[in-house]
Amino acid sequence: MTRERLYLFDTTLRDGAQTQGVDFSVPDKRHIAQELDRIGIDYVEGGWPGANPTDTTFFAGPPAFRHAKLIAFGMTKRSGRSAANDPGLAAVLDAKSQGSCLVGKTWDFHVMLVLGISLEENLTLIKESIAAAVARGGEALFDAEHFFDGYKANADYALRCLKAAEAAGARWLVLCDTNGGTLPHEVERIVGEVTKHVPGGKLGIHAHNDTENAVANSLAAIRAGVRQVQGTLNGLGERCGNANLVSLIPTLVLKPDYATRFETGVSVEELRHLTHLSHLLDELLNRSSNRHAAYVGASAFAHKGGLHVSAVEKDPRTYEHVPPESVGNQRHILVSDQAGRSNILAQLREAGIAIDPKHPKLGRLLEEVKEREFQGYAYDGAEASFELLARRALDGMPEFFRLQSFRVLDERRWNARGELVTLSEATIKVEVGGATVMTVAEGNGPVNALDSALRKALIPVFPELEDIRLTDYKVRILTPQEGTKAVTRVMIETSDAKGDSWSTVGVSANVIDASYNALYDSLVYKLWRSGRRS
Ligand SMILES: [Zn+2]
Repeated sequence: MTRERLYLFDTTLRDGAQTQGVDFSVPDKRHIAQELDRIGIDYVEGGWPGANPTDTTFFAGPPAFRHAKLIAFGMTKRSGRSAANDPGLAAVLDAKSQGSCLVGKTWDFHVMLVLGISLEENLTLIKESIAAAVARGGEALFDAEHFFDGYKANADYALRCLKAAEAAGARWLVLCDTNGGTLPHEVERIVGEVTKHVPGGKLGIHAHNDTENAVANSLAAIRAGVRQVQGTLNGLGERCGNANLVSLIPTLVLKPDYATRFETGVSVEELRHLTHLSHLLDELLNRSSNRHAAYVGASAFAHKGGLHVSAVEKDPRTYEHVPPESVGNQRHILVSDQAGRSNILAQLREAGIAIDPKHPKLGRLLEEVKEREFQGYAYDGAEASFELLARRALDGMPEFFRLQSFRVLDERRWNARGELVTLSEATIKVEVGGATVMTVAEGNGPVNALDSALRKALIPVFPELEDIRLTDYKVRILTPQEGTKAVTRVMIETSDAKGDSWSTVGVSANVIDASYNALYDSLVYKLWRSGRRS
């Protein structure tokens, strides 16, 4: 069976840029645009030339694409001017692009209230603007703003707007659920009715997520006949966002109901870059990724319950709807207080520890993990501490150094220049390399001072500790259980000059002590990984 072509249109750089707190630079835009092209997106809407300096600069020197078409976005011309005489429209049509997408009104209520013009005049604006976009060459797209609300209010008029754009030569008529309030069954019904007037091969869907249905609405529109689907990476967009292409694309490529009927520009091979693409956007925006994101989240293929884990070990299809590798994600086996033997075994395998499932000390390790978790330890995000715990319990670990004592002093005062300063000083006594060493160090905080003092004592014996640094430090106060005192859990991420990074955890009633426990694991882990065995 030959498959029908379904076109993917990305509007991250235009609609996604409307998100609160999102401010793409020109290099960000170029980077994202190139990645979109690389994965196989058909249309990249680069922005609105003339509307702001970033978009104007971006369009002045757009990146070269392998496959995608770059589209400039703008508005239909203003009333009272000819298309040739509207500087806003001219900036869009003059941009270096392979097409233009012009948004126009299709809801009578908006035409009368917001534009304050007659319904007939609005049709003229659409017709003349689209005609100008067709005349400049490339593809012309008409974004039918508020189409679904317009159709519900006055179906005849909303259709006349589409017809006006079609008659003027638009390649695509994009049905927009601008307010995002339309539901999937309504989208399916309305698109079905529209396809009696305009062929589905000319229709697109642009859904907003105000009822959390933007992806479902896009799928409903495809089922009803549209052949272009618009959205943004990670569902970025104003208010509740746009349809999330990162969820839509794998559904279209992997799910048989769509994959057997439609072909997109994204191949099965390119789909493996999807997790990277999603995380890249978060990196550029300096945001942490949503762990629970469909397909690409860190938790999307994470298994925790003991029963689930033993089933996944037998066959991943028991608890996974698609293979994680198909979208470039990976399976995570989490250790938890529900952990069974198979869970521990799988986690050990992930840590690269080969172990006989009948190891006599395995039961003891399981008990120890449960006991630690009861105290407040969490190993889900602290794999290095888990590995050390396992090695200590199963085969024993050398004690590279032993802490005798530490003392930390914190000071807050006004300095000679009248500035408020805080300073910490740590004194530490450790047994290392057969001797007792005492060191003192200062830091901008107690943990920093402690870390410096400890490393000062250890580096002469273990020079490999020189190149490591703490890259993340998280403190969490755990609520008291059954009348016991609150405890603090500290998670530390450390990386070295080679770019390796590892996470450790420490728990104590005292935050400095908890930090020391996490720090201790971090240093021991580095020494073990460097090949030290004594
Ligand atoms: Zn939009």
